[in-house]
Amino acid sequence: MVKPLQIQQFKDYLERKRLRFTQERQLILEQAFALKNHFRADDLLFQMIGNGYKTSKATIYRTLPLLVQSGLLTEIIDAQNQTMYEPVQGDIRQHAHLICVRCSQIIEFRDSEIEVIQQTICASHRFQPLKYRHEILGYCAQCAL
Ligand SMILES: [Zn+2]
Ligand SMILES: [Zn+2]
Repeated sequence: MVKPLQIQQFKDYLERKRLRFTQERQLILEQAFALKNHFRADDLLFQMIGNGYKTSKATIYRTLPLLVQSGLLTEIIDAQNQTMYEPVQGDIRQHAHLICVRCSQIIEFRDSEIEVIQQTICASHRFQPLKYRHEILGYCAQCAL
């Protein structure tokens, strides 16, 4: 469930961008946070239609990038090179993904060593990281048999 603070975060972002905070945009935010962890734009569209809301594919495709830019959703590129989204919840540390190319399951992991190495690499290039996206494609334990 989306928290009032997160709705405020979206409002603030839209205000900074001089965009309107519409009911439809708020609804898309709420519905995105009600979905399973990793979802596609179409999953959101089908859920909203299923729940009886009027929205369009175009509106959803326009709104999702705004939610990413406001820091409420993160993007993952899956095995089919499609963008998936995931609500940013509680833990501020980002996690990485193992993506099975056969069954499409996504396994999340965190590793502090990887984070340290990335910071060292960025520092050595005097590169200022904003965020990292880490995806490993392959076969999960069931599919590798
Ligand atoms: Zn698999
Ligand atoms: Zn994830």
